Amino acid sequence: MHNDVFCKIIRGEIPSYKIYEDADVLAILDISQVTKGHVLVMPKEHYENFLSTPQEVMHKVMNIAQRIGQVQIKMLGAKGVNILSNAYEAAGQTVMHFHVHVIPRYESNDNFHLEMKENNESLNLPAIADKIKL
Ligand code: AMP
Repeated sequence: MHNDVFCKIIRGEIPSYKIYEDADVLAILDISQVTKGHVLVMPKEHYENFLSTPQEVMHKVMNIAQRIGQVQIKMLGAKGVNILSNAYEAAGQTVMHFHVHVIPRYESNDNFHLEMKENNESLNLPAIADKIKL
């Protein structure tokens, strides 16, 4: 048995605002709303993060994340959606139970900033590509 906050929510030990639930997947409002309607989608079974989650479970989670993104656009008037999954502390993961953030984006009152700046180091792209080729 795991004692992370999402396992406790799944077991009903901690309250949450449920958006979707089936036998395998739960989606809830994030307690710290980055933007209005920010949702977390997670498998009910415990996996540490997306790197260790079986593909069939990942597919179920992503199917629901997609549907939630569509509803955020339709019902909340969002103009876009970011999906994000942090894996390990170095990437900002604070709850060690796989989850996907579905973050609706708005034209105004939107304080979510995702900045991808080019790395200034000179990188050896052929060597890097060779190293991580699947
Ligand atoms: P991460 O930092 O990617 O691991 O995301 C964990 C998320 O869980 C954060 O955005 C928290 O705001 C959220 N969170 C933590 N506790 C709760 C809770 N009890 N109910 C809903 N969301 C929570």
